[in-house]
Amino acid sequence: MYPVPELESERIRALAETHILDSGAAPDFDAIVDLVRHVLQAPICVVSLVDTNRQWFKAKCGIGVDGTDRATAFCSHALISDEVLVIEDARADSRFSDNPLVTGDPHIRFYAGAPLTVSPGIALGTVCILGTEPRKLDVAEIRTLQSFAKVVMGLIRGHERAHEATRLAAQTQEQARALRLRERRFIQTERIARVGGWEFDVGTKAVAWSNETYRIYGIEIGTPIDLDLALSAYSAIGKERLNTLLGQLLGEGTGFDEEFDFVAACGTRKWVRCVGEVEFHDGKPNRLFGTFQDVTERRRAQDQLWRAANFDGLTGLANRNRFDDTLRSLDPGDSKTYGILMVDADHLKDVNDTLGHDAGDELIRIVATRLRDAVGQAGTVARVGGDEFAVLLSAQVDALALESLAGNILSAMQPWQLFKGNTLKPIVSIGGAIRLDGETGEDLRQSADLALYHAKQNRRGGYVLFDRDMKSAITARTVAVSIVDEALIRGDVLAYYQPVVELATGRISGFEVLARVQRPDGVRSIGDFADALQDPRTATRLTACMLKRIEADVVGWKRAGIRVPQIAFNVGAWDFQESAIEAMVLATCERAGIEPSQFVMEVTESVFLSRGANLVSETAARLRARGITIALDDFGTGHASLAHLGTFPVDVIKMDRSFVMRMNDDGSGAVIAAALIDLAHNLGIQVVAEGVESEAQLNQLVSLGCEKAQGYLFSPALPASEVGRVISSFRWCDRPVGFSKPAGSRKEFERQI
Ligand code: C2E
Ligand code: CA
Ligand code: CA
Repeated sequence: MYPVPELESERIRALAETHILDSGAAPDFDAIVDLVRHVLQAPICVVSLVDTNRQWFKAKCGIGVDGTDRATAFCSHALISDEVLVIEDARADSRFSDNPLVTGDPHIRFYAGAPLTVSPGIALGTVCILGTEPRKLDVAEIRTLQSFAKVVMGLIRGHERAHEATRLAAQTQEQARALRLRERRFIQTERIARVGGWEFDVGTKAVAWSNETYRIYGIEIGTPIDLDLALSAYSAIGKERLNTLLGQLLGEGTGFDEEFDFVAACGTRKWVRCVGEVEFHDGKPNRLFGTFQDVTERRRAQDQLWRAANFDGLTGLANRNRFDDTLRSLDPGDSKTYGILMVDADHLKDVNDTLGHDAGDELIRIVATRLRDAVGQAGTVARVGGDEFAVLLSAQVDALALESLAGNILSAMQPWQLFKGNTLKPIVSIGGAIRLDGETGEDLRQSADLALYHAKQNRRGGYVLFDRDMKSAITARTVAVSIVDEALIRGDVLAYYQPVVELATGRISGFEVLARVQRPDGVRSIGDFADALQDPRTATRLTACMLKRIEADVVGWKRAGIRVPQIAFNVGAWDFQESAIEAMVLATCERAGIEPSQFVMEVTESVFLSRGANLVSETAARLRARGITIALDDFGTGHASLAHLGTFPVDVIKMDRSFVMRMNDDGSGAVIAAALIDLAHNLGIQVVAEGVESEAQLNQLVSLGCEKAQGYLFSPALPASEVGRVISSFRWCDRPVGFSKPAGSRKEFERQI
């Protein structure tokens, strides 16, 4: 009942290609079935298309259904041959006698179907007539039906063509839409990327621009352009360069891609990127063309990035990065002598701590401005650290010139400046170095750094020029640090105790703890390694170690039944800046089980005047409020004038040994000592004389009313194990006449010890 199987798939494909299955109502097909029925006098006529499993009626009359399954379809049989199939009486035909269309509604008896042939053996379906009565069809009628089949095939082809035309139209429309979209996108891209195009016709000299190029130039779109107008936006240098590039493009065919600065018609400065190519025709250039792009924003961003990477935001000066680059670029073989100044703004940390970062920033700005003004054309100034600046001299300098520039900088800093009701004092220390033959920029900087270090240590607020000895000083410090560090680790740092004698009574009022280092050659004073105390880490570790020793010794004395004396310990500048000295001292009191009033903290006047002066004063004041006695150590050796005395929170001053030594002279030393003691007493401050070695000195001190003294005359510093014995056995028998004067009778003195 099915056609040859290998043809069936071809048939189905051919049917699909017509796109007719399930297509909508078609009046021409309807007209045909109507006509066939009329001409051939049949009650039913259909155009049946036979699909894989069904027959579908493209047009029908005299029947209600739109199709049937393929198995029951008469048409399925009509496909097998290219001839018209005529079934005169279905009931009498064994192929159809039990077909449901025959046995049931609509009770078909007659069928005649002409195949809709595409090619031999391949038919899409049929044009058929059906009836409920048996009937014969004569030859003319069969031909008529065949003719109608051809007409229907023509209609099917027509449908197919119309379908293809619609498809093509849709495709063309889609393509046109896509094209329009692409164009629009291109224009958008052109705008967003600010890429324009340009063209130059070598023969006619005509210039053509894209819209974006007009926009970049700021010229109305469509304005006629010539080469002169095109080049007029460039600077003289840019124009010359472009002419060269265009010449090379024409002559050698080498393309270019370069950026130029440019002024648009409205006067706006821009950066443009111009790319040029050439097109040859018959070996001759006939067209120059390329792109034109506004790269102003990118250049601006690059500039900003470069500025951010090379300049300091606060001061606008070159930053460390740029300074390092400049230093690196100094050629060691260059015979030119350059000088360098490293400038450090003192007290920045204090200003930040006490007045806030606003004030600190302002201080930095003031220093930067004054520095730049003072240096002027002589060199470049950079900010190379929080409070550190560098000046690189751009011309040859000698030591004198460098010193005079440093002097100018120091005086430029002099005026104080008001900031939000506070006075800012831009004080700087300066280290300088001159570059020697063969030195790299890095060597030069190291030398200047060393000089600055010396300035900060020894000439704060002044200028120091580098000399070679500074290097050995640094080496000495490194050695000292390693000796003390090692001793700290090995537990070789010891606490020795030097008695402090109360002159009124001649008895020991307390001890000063002095650090000692156990070395292979014996016990050495920490003073021998004093350089080590300039290292913050070592200095603070020493303090912590000494407090631990004191704690252990106090506990030991208590256990041995020894009355714990007053103990004075020494601290340095780093203890205030780098560690929690306050908490440490109070914790020591607590752990050792002694009252804070038994502790004396000795702070030198240089520490009180150091960078963190405020911090030192505040910490000292707080400890003092807790009961700890504050002693101003080494008084008279540093810069503190007598006027400072009233401003430090101290209870005691320790008159330096140098004063006591000068008391042996004929008068002036004693006069100063007398004034000092007087002043201290007026301020309610006690005086302890240090380094008393002779009875003559002692006598003078007694007569001046000095309260206490310590020195070799009484005792050197002793190990902790000796303290108990000294307390109980100390006798001042050979005292001079004057000794007991302030204290009353000798008997009273002896009773007290
Ligand atoms: P300083 O605080 O002025 O200590 C007094 C120094 O004078 C001690 O030297 C002491 O041994 C010495 N001395 C005492 N009586 C006499 C005397 O009659 N004649 C002479 N010529 N010298 C006398 P030392 O122990 O060498 O200490 C030197 C400095 O080292 C101390 O000066 C102090 O500033 C510092 N130091 C000592 N121990 C410590 C410590 O534990 N911590 C800190 N931060 N510094 C300490
Ligand atoms: Ca001391
Ligand atoms: Ca001292």
